[in-house]
Amino acid sequence: MRVTANSETCAVSSLCVYRVPGVFDQDEDGLVLVLDESPAEALHEEIRRAARGCPTKSIRVIEETAAGAPAAGERPSGSAVKTGDRAGEAR
Ligand code: SF4
Repeated sequence: MRVTANSETCAVSSLCVYRVPGVFDQDEDGLVLVLDESPAEALHEEIRRAARGCPTKSIRVIEETAAGAPAAGERPSGSAVKTGDRAGEAR
């Protein structure tokens, strides 16, 4: 998971800071700061709640695949699929 926040739209409600203080903080103007952009898995659900609860939707949560690896298991179909060969023919 990666966490970002947009301080330009932050309404200084402090909700995220109260919910996950190790991940969110506020600057001297009260605007959101992200302290930990790659938080521990144990915090993920609470961070998702903070994002959902943000009144201005200023928190963005990016779910990543395991170890940040690119999505696996998707291969191009190649040339194995031919149309008009056997498709639709009776047995
Ligand atoms: S919950 Fe949203 S509006 Fe409130 S401080 Fe956090 S980012 Fe800003």
